Amino acid sequence: MKYLSILGSTGSIGRNALKIVEMFPERFAVKALAAKKNIELLASQIERFRPEIVVVFDEKRALELKKILPLPCNAEIMHGDDGYRVAATHDSVDMVVSAMVGAAGLIPTLAAIDAGKQIALANKETLVMAGEIVMKRAEQKGIKILPIDSEHSAIFQCLKGHRKEDLSKILLTASGGPFRNKSKDEFVNIKPKDALNHPTWQMGPKISIDSATLMNKGLEVIEAKFLFEVSENSIEVLVHPQSVIHSMVSYKDGSVLAQLGIPDMKGAIAYAMAYPERLDLKQPIPKFASMDGLTFEPPDLEKFPCLAFAFEACKTGGTLPAVLNAANEVAVQAFLNERIPFVKIPDVIHRTMAKHALVSVPDLSDIIAADRWARVEAEKRVESRGQ
Ligand code: MG
Repeated sequence: MKYLSILGSTGSIGRNALKIVEMFPERFAVKALAAKKNIELLASQIERFRPEIVVVFDEKRALELKKILPLPCNAEIMHGDDGYRVAATHDSVDMVVSAMVGAAGLIPTLAAIDAGKQIALANKETLVMAGEIVMKRAEQKGIKILPIDSEHSAIFQCLKGHRKEDLSKILLTASGGPFRNKSKDEFVNIKPKDALNHPTWQMGPKISIDSATLMNKGLEVIEAKFLFEVSENSIEVLVHPQSVIHSMVSYKDGSVLAQLGIPDMKGAIAYAMAYPERLDLKQPIPKFASMDGLTFEPPDLEKFPCLAFAFEACKTGGTLPAVLNAANEVAVQAFLNERIPFVKIPDVIHRTMAKHALVSVPDLSDIIAADRWARVEAEKRVESRGQ
């Protein structure tokens, strides 16, 4: 039996991870669930999975949750940073599924690594903000970080059984998002509801907007650099609108390996949860015979400058990826709240990056300080509508 702590249990990844627990009750049990604020869903998850520890964002929500929980409930209800840390490090937990949204996932995931837990990682920001520190600590603890992001799971699978020195390139595929075929002139009219409507993947609001700006792919480039310990020069982004190929790896003899599947997150989540085994998910394979074709094109960096900013942050390194990430979180939220138009998202990010005083070899406190600074700075840019 593998005992899980699921950080971010009410989000898209968390809900899918729980579906897998439900499908394989003889293999997985839930010890801890942590969510931010969706306490109604959390209450039903508690009833169904009977965790020992439950964490929510703040005390107010912890009290509300206690009120709506069906009796009897033996779970200890905690809140805030201390609560997330307990859920990430508890003795009874074998694996932490790190699926919180945004920068908030970094500290609990690091705590889980330090506690020697296996990590199934969906929270991109952990590696984007502090990739070097995270990978070093994982190595010291002898822990493998198992990626849940579909692209990184694909790359991880394509690298398996091959020698690192034979690797030539990582080909990171992108669906291109909902605005791939829109002209730049039409971007001025984009509303949150248009951007939330992703053509191939079902995801939460933050990552859906990131997919629409291609920042999601940019964050994935940075994530891949650290996770697979390669230079950004050997990572190429390839737009592949059908999302059938989840990513590819090329070797020095010209061989290219790809991992394919239907666009359903359960495949990547289950692979990380059961690694190195594969679970019988009863998932269909893509319908190859009736496909119109698989197409590929280079990303349009003029239409989607966020991807170029991410490559820039990746190359510069230090605290710049954390700044990119924090400014992006602020800009995306401002767009969702209709405080800035879609076309101003890149401006908020890039102007914040340009003002940052870089720390080249940061420790964790430098990274957290850069994240905080960037949020304040990006908010100023939002106030002035991207100027
Ligand atoms: Mg992805």
